[in-house]
Amino acid sequence: MKTSISKLVRQNILKMKGYSSARDEYTGTASIYLDANESPYGQFNRYPDPYQKELKSKISNVKSIPSKNIFVGNGSDEAIDLLMRIFCNPSTDNIISFTPGYGMYQVSASIQDINNISLPLNEKFQIDREILQPYLDDISIKIIFICSPNNPTGNLINKEDIDWILDSFNGIVVIDEAYIDFANTVSWISQVNNYERLVVLQTMSKAWGLAAARVGMAYADEDIISLFNKVKPPYNVSNLNQKAAVAALTNKKVNRIKVEATISERKRLKKEILKLPNVKKIFPSEANFLFMEVDDADKIYLDLINQKIIVRNQTNKVKDCLRISIGTPEENNRLIEILKSINDPSLQLTEYGLNSTPDLINRH
Ligand code: PMP
Repeated sequence: MKTSISKLVRQNILKMKGYSSARDEYTGTASIYLDANESPYGQFNRYPDPYQKELKSKISNVKSIPSKNIFVGNGSDEAIDLLMRIFCNPSTDNIISFTPGYGMYQVSASIQDINNISLPLNEKFQIDREILQPYLDDISIKIIFICSPNNPTGNLINKEDIDWILDSFNGIVVIDEAYIDFANTVSWISQVNNYERLVVLQTMSKAWGLAAARVGMAYADEDIISLFNKVKPPYNVSNLNQKAAVAALTNKKVNRIKVEATISERKRLKKEILKLPNVKKIFPSEANFLFMEVDDADKIYLDLINQKIIVRNQTNKVKDCLRISIGTPEENNRLIEILKSINDPSLQLTEYGLNSTPDLINRH
């Protein structure tokens, strides 16, 4: 293992031996399997491939990165959790993440008793180098999490700032690209071969439409991938979920059409919502949601709930801001209609709002 990585790993993780499953010990094809105490009956009776070889080969193909640099988790949330367990000693080590940002870095850190140093992004939701600089030499900081496009603000983090962090920080740099397929930029995946301490996270939950299946990826140096494999539960991605992900990747052209549709709806929705008087600002979005500042986020949030439309109230993170996911054109039309009526008390709302169908409303 490369010394730059072995120096960062928790010593107990470095020393321990990972669990060896039945499917680890024999990897060929047999006619009779009596090695894993499975039921011999049924459709779902066999354990899945612990290393998801077929799925990784598809991902490798679509993302142009070798399978040996891919870890597949039960959602990218699993990868976030495992990274902390691999690199951070509970009650001793720290991580850095930025605020406003994705909440799971803090939650996973708290579960492991790891301190999350939460640094504010600047007014453009970019990294403030002056604030970060003093922390970069602190060896108790094992991981910096950068979310780009950032959730909930929707913007990409400047490439120059990420380059600077990669060059000046000796710990693990995680770039969470959950929303990358909606962004007009290239992924950091191509840099995994240049920076052995870089981990890029992606997911099939957003652009690939598979949130129900829980499939997330981490791309990294082989040494980091083998550490993921050592600490992960043996069969962390179910057979059904692996199959769903393989099918989606096989239909990547169809999927791209859906992503393009979401991007064009994002533009349309932004234009329409900006016309409303109580919307102060919509921040530039490279994701499948809009982040906006309104007059009174709590009120609009509740007004929308009354019309059975659920958005994310982010006022506790950024005052009077809402995060709204891009829906289908019909759902977006309905949202616009309701937002207009909230703005204009002379428009009377019926039980189902204006010109709407109960069918659409009742879908959750
Ligand atoms: N990272 C970010 C920035 C996210 O917004 C999410 C989901 N909300 C995740 C990671 C986790 O995604 P999943 O576990 O579904 O792959």
